[in-house]
Amino acid sequence: MERDIVLVFHNQGLRSYIEVDLCPQCPRLNDKGCCGYYSPVFYPTDLAYIILNRPGLVDHIFSLPHLTILDASVTVNSLVDDDGYRCQFHSRQTGCLLPMMLRESVCRHFVCPGIGWWEEESLSHWKLFFDQLAEYEIAVNNRISGELKRRGLTLRVPELRPTFYRELMPLFKKETEAKPGFFSLCPDREKVVLRRRLSFGKDWCL
Ligand code: SF4
Ligand code: SF4
Repeated sequence: MERDIVLVFHNQGLRSYIEVDLCPQCPRLNDKGCCGYYSPVFYPTDLAYIILNRPGLVDHIFSLPHLTILDASVTVNSLVDDDGYRCQFHSRQTGCLLPMMLRESVCRHFVCPGIGWWEEESLSHWKLFFDQLAEYEIAVNNRISGELKRRGLTLRVPELRPTFYRELMPLFKKETEAKPGFFSLCPDREKVVLRRRLSFGKDWCL
């Protein structure tokens, strides 16, 4: 069966994302699609964005079960669900409970290989954009994490978290003030329609 899939690419700098209209009818047919196979990881740039836009969410994240907390990141590990797993933010009825801009980068960028938009020559500018964005984000997070560590701050110690957040904010501002050149590679928004042959259940690769 073939189907037209609508993708909308959004250039929002560090918070860029891709919308896929197939997800609510994911061919995996298990009400969770790729969200049954991923555990989101929140890094300093995510935490800074969340603190600026939905401060209560940081405390909510740290109140969840099955976390992996490192010095400068927190992973919300999936819970066992049916014959597999499910992200703790995923609702069977409504999908991801987090608004797009509050999700971490894999959740904002991931599109399954069955759609494979990066194979389209006409979308090579977005491929370049998202490749560079991934490298840029890692570099910014590494610099911020390194500096916070030098200051003796770590998310592993609950009592240090308020100071970690307070010192994170000016570092985040400083690191992201100058916009890298590739931010202007792509328009703010671009909608494309790709026709793809669908396969179902485990035949739809993740
Ligand atoms: S597997 Fe593909 S279609 Fe299904 S939810 Fe994930 S991105 Fe959407
Ligand atoms: S945070 Fe949202 S998009 Fe990411 S894996 Fe969980 S439910 Fe899916």
